[in-house]
Amino acid sequence: MATHMTPDEFRQHGHAVVDWIADYWSTLDQRPVTSADPPGTVAARLPAGPPERGEPFDRLLADLDTVIAPGLTHWQHPRFFGYFPANTSGPSVLGDLVCAGLGVQGMLWSTGPACTEVETVVLDWLAELLDLPARLRSGGSGGGVIQDSASSAILIAVLAALHRAAGGRWRGHGVERAYRVYTSTQGHSAIEKAVRIAGLGDAGLRTVAVDPESLAMDPAALRTAIEADLAAGLVPAAAVATIGTTSTNAVDPIPAIGELCREYGLWLHVDAAYAGAAAVCPELRWSHAGLEYADSYCFDPHKWLLTGFDCDAFWVADRAELVEALTVLPEYLRNAATESGEVLDYRDWQVSLGRRFRALKLWFVLRWYGAEGLRAHIRETIALAGWFAEQVRADQRFELVAPSPFALVCFRLRATSDDAADDEANAELLARVNATGRAYLTHTRVGGRYTLRLVPGSPYTREEHVAQTWQLITDAATAHGRQEGPR
Ligand SMILES: *Cc1c(COP(=O)(O)O)cnc(C)c1O
Repeated sequence: MATHMTPDEFRQHGHAVVDWIADYWSTLDQRPVTSADPPGTVAARLPAGPPERGEPFDRLLADLDTVIAPGLTHWQHPRFFGYFPANTSGPSVLGDLVCAGLGVQGMLWSTGPACTEVETVVLDWLAELLDLPARLRSGGSGGGVIQDSASSAILIAVLAALHRAAGGRWRGHGVERAYRVYTSTQGHSAIEKAVRIAGLGDAGLRTVAVDPESLAMDPAALRTAIEADLAAGLVPAAAVATIGTTSTNAVDPIPAIGELCREYGLWLHVDAAYAGAAAVCPELRWSHAGLEYADSYCFDPHKWLLTGFDCDAFWVADRAELVEALTVLPEYLRNAATESGEVLDYRDWQVSLGRRFRALKLWFVLRWYGAEGLRAHIRETIALAGWFAEQVRADQRFELVAPSPFALVCFRLRATSDDAADDEANAELLARVNATGRAYLTHTRVGGRYTLRLVPGSPYTREEHVAQTWQLITDAATAHGRQEGPR
């Protein structure tokens, strides 16, 4: 017989779980950022099979400390500087908890009207916060929706673009012609994946050269690629431009790319997965110049806007076109509200049918922080990155590798005449720093050269944490035999 957790038991254990999370957050600083255990360690701590009898909840809680926490990379840690941080916050977690408690499945407006309407309004709020063009907002022909990730947003944009490129017939005919999607050599791997999932094959993606200094897409190279494809009888369908590339935070010239997309009839998707959050600050909106050309745009509040994974905010300029590309209406989903044409059914804006009430966490975050709280977080993070970049600049052993328009710093040991030895030295330096467990950074390659990346983002990160990390880095450089001294 099932022994369901009663509301009173839930209240009691729920309080204990919230306490556990609060303790976790307040002790992060004392934990190693990553686990040093070899693969299989966590699995070996688990029993071979599921329990036949239910267990007391306390045992589960205890296992969070003994089984789970030691086997984690602590993404909320104040000295986590890898990839792009995926930061959460108290209000986000609590909004997610309410979402879980409601257990609403908001595939249609009618399966949870508040789930749809709050999402529409909150995405309009967010569009206002970022000062996005009016055509992306729901008051006109556009509108926003929450996707699980920027990868999904890119896929949806590509599917809608193919529908348009085929004159609205792609749905019925499939990929019958050789469509092409363009991005720069610095575009995210999710673009290649989207093109593959859309059925265009690897040949469907054209990577366009970048300016060697800024690493931003070269519009002249884009034009050349489009014209060559047209001459070969191919169909240019979409371009994906990036605001804040993953490797170095390069910003593609959206106005020039937008002009080309207009001229040749391409769908323009703008991927601002990480850097979109910066646009809450007016002084950083230069990065979004030209966005009025975009047919779709996305950014991840789950990266830099204090909203827990997963939360990608995606907007389209023409929602009817998107819905037409994706909708399938079986009898069992028919309902009066949909037929009235007065409601949005978000199932038609995404890959899956089902969806949860993700807008709650975003709503909680926006209301807790307010626009000024969010701007403060962005500015504080950028100041921390700026402080770190200053240290790099002042130390003759290191060099900055790319401009740092947001909060990503790309740096490495100063180049010598031996590229291979340099790459090895930098890889060793990174391994040495991460092996201490006291900080976590990741790497990329810029112009083929091994490069270290540091990105602050955790709400718990203070200058002291960045300073401790810089100390670890310089210690590792010294241990590697690099001579100390100011520039
Ligand atoms: C992180 C990132 C993505 C992928 O983000 P997900 O939301 O994890 O899919 C796409 N594009 C850029 C520029 C990114 O930085």
